[in-house]
Amino acid sequence: MRVDKFLSQMKFCSRKQAKSFIKSHKIIIDNHQIFDADFSFEPSLEKISIDDELIFYEDTIYLALNKPKGYVSANKDEMHPCVIDLIKKPFDRFDFKIAGRLDIDTEGLMILSTDGKFVHEITHPNHHLPKTYIAVLDKKFTDANLLLNGIEIVDGHQKPFIAKALDIKTNGKEVSIVIDEGKFHQVKRMFLKVGYEVIYLKRIQIGNLKLKDLFPGTYIQVRKDEIL
Ligand code: URA
Repeated sequence: MRVDKFLSQMKFCSRKQAKSFIKSHKIIIDNHQIFDADFSFEPSLEKISIDDELIFYEDTIYLALNKPKGYVSANKDEMHPCVIDLIKKPFDRFDFKIAGRLDIDTEGLMILSTDGKFVHEITHPNHHLPKTYIAVLDKKFTDANLLLNGIEIVDGHQKPFIAKALDIKTNGKEVSIVIDEGKFHQVKRMFLKVGYEVIYLKRIQIGNLKLKDLFPGTYIQVRKDEIL
């Protein structure tokens, strides 16, 4: 990758400003100072430092994040804080795509990645990646079979579709439900269809990746093969 492209991709300066940025900062790549914006290097293999600070770089980054309530699953929002605002140094220089959104009042596991192809793949409706949610309902749940057999959702939000749970475990009002689709408000709409209101919702697993004890608002770097 050219140095000017790297500097702009990593948000140090625009590609146009790269020449003057290089003049006014000490840029070292693999122990050699760089003076040319068109110098090419392999940022995932060669160490780069700017003014003696080593710059973290990886071609593809996968983060598992515990979204807190009140955050929107977006890069920017006028009214509410966004999950992207939770991303701190050294990851904040990267452009993350969000794989599978959660409602503002839903908590739990989200995957953010710089690997756009992977995000597209796992969020594509044909992929059917299982996701596990814990829902707390307004009353004791006794209708697991209805959701396991599949129910038609006709509520005007989208065109009618059949929603089916892959697995359900019940403990009074608390239900663990696995689905392999991600339609708008899908879990809430499924419970509503059979007469229950979801009063709390948390996603605890996506594919093989579990939320475990990740504190709300925090994230960890994971490998792609921990997810699929
Ligand atoms: N289903 C919902 O209803 N809401 C979410 O945030 C995720 C799944």
